[in-house]
Amino acid sequence: MSKANEREPLWQRLHRDQESRSAIQLALDYGGEYLDAAPDRSVFPDQVAIAALDAFDEPLPERSTPAVEVIGQLHELGSPATTAQGGGRYFGYVNGGLLPAALGARLLADVWDQNAALQLMSPIAAQLEAVCERWLVDLLGLPEGSAAGLVSGTSAATLCGLLAGRNALPRRLGWDVNALGLFGAPKLRAVLSEGAHITVRKSLAILGMGAAQIEIVPADDQGRIDHSRLPPLDEHTLLILQAGNVNSGAFDDFTSLCTAAQQAGAWVHVDGAFGLWARACQATAHLTAGIKRADSWSVDAHKTLNSPYDCGIILCRDREALVGALQASDSYLHFGAGRDGMLYTPDMSRRARGVELWAALKSLGRAGVDQLVAQLCRRARQFDDELRAHDFQVLNEVVFNQVLVACESPALTEQTLELLQAGGECWCGGSMWRGEPVIRISVCSWTTTPDDVRRSVAAFVDARERAAAAIA
Ligand SMILES: *Cc1c(COP(=O)(O)O)cnc(C)c1O
Repeated sequence: MSKANEREPLWQRLHRDQESRSAIQLALDYGGEYLDAAPDRSVFPDQVAIAALDAFDEPLPERSTPAVEVIGQLHELGSPATTAQGGGRYFGYVNGGLLPAALGARLLADVWDQNAALQLMSPIAAQLEAVCERWLVDLLGLPEGSAAGLVSGTSAATLCGLLAGRNALPRRLGWDVNALGLFGAPKLRAVLSEGAHITVRKSLAILGMGAAQIEIVPADDQGRIDHSRLPPLDEHTLLILQAGNVNSGAFDDFTSLCTAAQQAGAWVHVDGAFGLWARACQATAHLTAGIKRADSWSVDAHKTLNSPYDCGIILCRDREALVGALQASDSYLHFGAGRDGMLYTPDMSRRARGVELWAALKSLGRAGVDQLVAQLCRRARQFDDELRAHDFQVLNEVVFNQVLVACESPALTEQTLELLQAGGECWCGGSMWRGEPVIRISVCSWTTTPDDVRRSVAAFVDARERAAAAIA
């Protein structure tokens, strides 16, 4: 840095950085470069890139750094140390891709820097959230008038759904949790599948439900809750169901389970983090039959819909139950005549997630969402077919976007996964399925082509060959 620059007062430089738009331009240039390179680079960063991250481990700088240098360091050291999620051959966890319109909207919204807490803070953020709420309820075929809150992810969404239920059930029994608190309130029970996602248990813990109040129901061979083993439900019960098991992608039988819950007066929450989108696709909608009868649903736009992180959605049939559970009021808060986003989430200040959610839905339209979901499922079936043709075992019924793969022995599966991950051609995570290690494929990005699947299957075959040689 030059002497002249060092003497330049900070605010003067910030103004100059802003007026020249150098940081924005640079970020866009680097971002474009990054996207261009994504399909061909190693899907997981190499050791050199990871080791270079040590450069970030410096003491807090005493002096300021020009914006272009900050962005420059981020690109030079940061970009190579990312996983190439946008490249078409990343199949780890259940991480979505990124739609161009949603990315663009996010960038513009970041420039706007809107606070989506109140209508009065950002009319555009409030408007787009209201529109998204209406569109989502329509697209996902949920009860008319259902409320939607935009939160960080399904973890937060599930927390909100169960919170609404935790307050609504005692209220129906004559106990107002907002007024009286939980001490002395009617005891609740939570009934969930052994295949429930860990975030469901985390939510229950946060809500004050201990192990003694949680009843775990065995699951069938696909990870669906076993209805025949369900304990009797009652008006004290939170029943948690799943649209899309995180390993197998399986869907619970909502028609029979929701009917039983409704008759018993229980509250049903559905964790549909990636699977609720099945409802927006003609080819998969049958998997969600009966789901409309639940009370609340959580889903991620950042998974199957391919909008940017972080965008979870809590949907709740009973608007008052959700808003009442997340109550807030103070004299300085001026709620608008329309929709104030903070009433539907635990947060107050929030970035305007509705902008990119709106952009994703607007750019795809109903037909586009249908095609996106159908394509992810087709690629998953392609994996199923081609891996079986190469003598891999596929352990689940591939009903959605998840494929669970094993080799002849657990040791060979583990070793194959290790070599597959190190190879950089594609990236899959590992998991345990019915007591056995598996390679877990999650097809989540619109960018994945049939050729990406072929290349990945070739990488599986190659990794298994090398693994077998290493074990022998
Ligand atoms: C991803 C996922 C979650 C957690 O969602 P986050 O957005 O990571 O908070 C919960 N349940 C299922 C089935 C998931 O796939």
